[in-house]
Amino acid sequence: MNEVIRLLRVLEVFGSIQGEGVHTGLPTTFVRLSGCNLRCTWCDTAYSQNGSGGEDTTVEDVMDRIRGLDRPYLCVTGGEPLLQHDVIALCSCAIGEGYHVDVETNGSMGVGELIKCCPDVFLSMDVKTPSSGQEGSFHGENLRLLRVKDQLKFIVSDHTDIDFALNFIGEHRPPCELIITPCSNDNAEALADHLSNELCKGEYGMFLNRIRLMLQTHRMIWGPDRKMV
Ligand code: SF4
Repeated sequence: MNEVIRLLRVLEVFGSIQGEGVHTGLPTTFVRLSGCNLRCTWCDTAYSQNGSGGEDTTVEDVMDRIRGLDRPYLCVTGGEPLLQHDVIALCSCAIGEGYHVDVETNGSMGVGELIKCCPDVFLSMDVKTPSSGQEGSFHGENLRLLRVKDQLKFIVSDHTDIDFALNFIGEHRPPCELIITPCSNDNAEALADHLSNELCKGEYGMFLNRIRLMLQTHRMIWGPDRKMV
């Protein structure tokens, strides 16, 4: 019987520390897949958007590179990793070998099949804010699928984005970790200052006071332009 070959379009595999979300600071292996269905105005990995970049690589070869980097945390990112169906095979294989697998998705793709096949995966899902130019791309069905252990992330670039995030969270009350992160630009410090002051006051109420304010640590360390971080 012919063996099924699972192929992924891989842009880069590298070791770094996780720069965003609840796993910030952990030494992590990153697998960046090529291609994205969105075009965020402030995208910091624009080189990943065009799916022609990178190389077709078998899941087994990707696993070899992951094993070689020897870190327990694996982050599958992009681009938008869920555009490639064989990402499920990669996650399944890595989880089977004991890796802690994060999948970073832009929120526009359904996650039902991934969760069904890989219940141990950790989902890091974006909701695109107005300043991204991609507001409205969120796949609403995902709200039903997010679990307590997952995280929903809002990258904010101005006060309109902050209001959008607070309204979205207040309206939908997702059960997962809730993160607001100022985009690493000239406005980041002022936004972080504003949001931290508001959170310190505690006036958002019980549910919204679960929000975490987090910064893009990798951009603070290495600046806005460095790749493979
Ligand atoms: S979803 Fe991510 S990779 Fe795609 S354009 Fe937006 S920021 Fe860039």
